Formats: sequence, structure tokens, C-alpha cells
Amino acid sequence: METTAGSTSSGTSMARSRSPRSSPIPYRVPPFEYTPAVNCYCGQKTPKWISWSDRNPGRRYRSCYRNQAGGCSLWVWLDPEPTDWQRQVLVDLRDAVKSLRTTNRALQMEKNELEAEKHELEVLLQEAQVKHAESVEKELEARALVKELEARALVKEKGSKHIQSTMTRCCGWQFRWPC
Ligand SMILES: [Zn+2]
Repeated sequence: METTAGSTSSGTSMARSRSPRSSPIPYRVPPFEYTPAVNCYCGQKTPKWISWSDRNPGRRYRSCYRNQAGGCSLWVWLDPEPTDWQRQVLVDLRDAVKSLRTTNRALQMEKNELEAEKHELEVLLQEAQVKHAESVEKELEARALVKELEARALVKEKGSKHIQSTMTRCCGWQFRWPC
């Protein structure tokens, strides 16, 4: 029975295939960091696994590295079977961690989307600011041109009045109609 329960959480492929009941913490103690080495029936050094099944949450065991891929049948529990209370607490914590990780992933994705939108808006804002600056510059140029034209027109008008006045004063007789 223990072998059946533990096997549900052993091996990379099985751990991934159990989604959404994925392991809340690493399901394998880093291999080859213990001594003395324990070899399986295949003659290979065995890693330590961590079960996260409902029956054996957090319980370490040792089995063949290729247990899920046709390896040998070696299976040794390293920790005692949890009590009902320990089992319930660990399962609840496992599920809480899993739920929080799911929420965290969703929030992270939302954050990434918002950051992408923010970047797009910043680019649009920069483009709008450049266009606004160009518009202001053109408006200033247009106003300066209007003032220049008004000044020229004023000079022209004054010149015209001066000429008319001079001609009237000096050559007024030429413009008189005979009575
Ligand atoms: Zn083996």
C-alpha cells in the first residue's frame, strides 16, 4: 500500500502529470549529495524523493532513479508514516502553498500585461509630446510671420500716406479740377 501511495508522487514525469496537484516543494532531494551511496538493483546511486501524496505528504523515500521508466523495483521509506494529524496538516499546507502559487502566477501574468500596456502608453505619450512640441513651434512661427506681415503692411500704409500727403502739399494744383 505504501508503495502505491508513494509512487503517485515519484519521478519527474509523474509529478508533472499529476497537475493540478503539483508538488508544493521540491519532490526530490538533490541527488548524489549523500554518503554512503545506496545503489538500486540496477547498480545506480539512488536519489531521495519526497512524496506529496494525500497518504504520505512530505515523506521521504528512496527508489530507483528510473522507477517510472522501467527501472528496478527498489523502494525504501526513509521517514515513518505520518499520523492522521500530521497528514492532515501537511496536506492542508500543501494545498495552501499550491493555491498561493497559482494566485501568484496569475498576479505575475497580470503584472506583466500591465507593464506591457504601461510601456505602450509611455511610447504613445512620448510621441504625443513630440507632436505637441512641433505644433507649438509651428504656431509660434505662424504668429511671428503674422506680426511681420502686419508690420510690413503698416510700413507700407504709412509710406503710401506720406507720398499722398507730399504730393497733395507740393503738387496740389495738379489735382484741382477747373472751376
Ligand atoms: Zn534501479
